[in-house]
Amino acid sequence: MSQRDKLSKKNKSVSGRKSSAGRKAPQEIRQKADRIQNESGPKRRRPNAGQTGERSSAGQKDRYVKKVKSFSSESGLSASDWNMPVSVSVETEDQLRTVLGEKSVSRIYIDEACFGIPGVDAGGNAGKGKAGEQEAEALAKIINEIHEAGKEAGLRLRRIERDTDPGPGSLSLLRGLIKLGSAPDMLLIRTFDEAMMVSDLETSETGNKGLNHIRKIFDYTCYGYNTEAVSMLRELGAEELTYPIELNYKECLNLRRAVKTLPDRELSEMPYEMLVYGHLPMMVTANCIRKTSAGCDHKNRFMVLRDRMQKDMPVRCYCKYCYNQIFNAEPLVLYDLPEDVRSLEPECLRYDFSVETGAEVRKILAGAIPKDITRGHFRHGVE
Ligand SMILES: [Zn+2]
Repeated sequence: MSQRDKLSKKNKSVSGRKSSAGRKAPQEIRQKADRIQNESGPKRRRPNAGQTGERSSAGQKDRYVKKVKSFSSESGLSASDWNMPVSVSVETEDQLRTVLGEKSVSRIYIDEACFGIPGVDAGGNAGKGKAGEQEAEALAKIINEIHEAGKEAGLRLRRIERDTDPGPGSLSLLRGLIKLGSAPDMLLIRTFDEAMMVSDLETSETGNKGLNHIRKIFDYTCYGYNTEAVSMLRELGAEELTYPIELNYKECLNLRRAVKTLPDRELSEMPYEMLVYGHLPMMVTANCIRKTSAGCDHKNRFMVLRDRMQKDMPVRCYCKYCYNQIFNAEPLVLYDLPEDVRSLEPECLRYDFSVETGAEVRKILAGAIPKDITRGHFRHGVE
């Protein structure tokens, strides 16, 4: 039995333990999350306590309880085994320190919502005045460090941007970075709001040439399921795309083949990044969990929601900007399916790190496979 078969069998046995209602629940949540993402603007809403079986963890010292991942005895390809560019996205200082020292990693995306967190003034206002300026300086310092490590530095833009966000908006933050001579090499764009914001900067008469050299990579949250959508993403400025996580292997293969036949070379040669590891976000909520409980101190933290199947789903509170993401309990793992991954001919592979410790990041990049994983939609329809 191949390693892959064993793993998929293992996954089946895990899902076999669930009731049929339990099997449906993540799908329902995903559909709901899709609906939210597809709506034009962020909506204020609370995580649905009835659906996720919300446990009040806000008062529990904000600890992410399931701290350590257990790893299976199987392993997949290490990041260096692929012999192709590998990018990672990081959300914590510990993850950043770890990947800076990883030779196999050629590109690091830092999340705008997770680094350069401004101080709070005496009145409790975050990122005002001097504190706001320091934010660009703090991010510039990290970008310089990534460059010194010989890697490309990408900035992953925030998932939700409101006019009421504390501190400077993404646009003025970018302008600040360009002014400091520390522009990122690329932006990882996750919403159409951000895509339009970036194109606004280009067409405006700011005389800012800096942004023309920043590559625009669209994440899987900007849907491009077919050639028409891909061509629309290109019009929005996409220079690189990410394989949609909702498509299975065959659908990804068909999409890439169809894109390659397009007459426009900018489209037919569109490079793709492919996610091979990461806890997938199930839902993004624009409310602040803290504001409704203890009051918000604008610090980022991890919390946990336990669903009715007793699964702990990590919740990341990005209180730099006061929004939250609920992640799937199990991470997506595809780095042990080298044949399938290679046949999709991605130009770059990506590992998204969110809840992992630095030690776990190192293990995963070395090919270790966590015990509980998901294949997402990738293996759907494959037997
Ligand atoms: Zn908050």
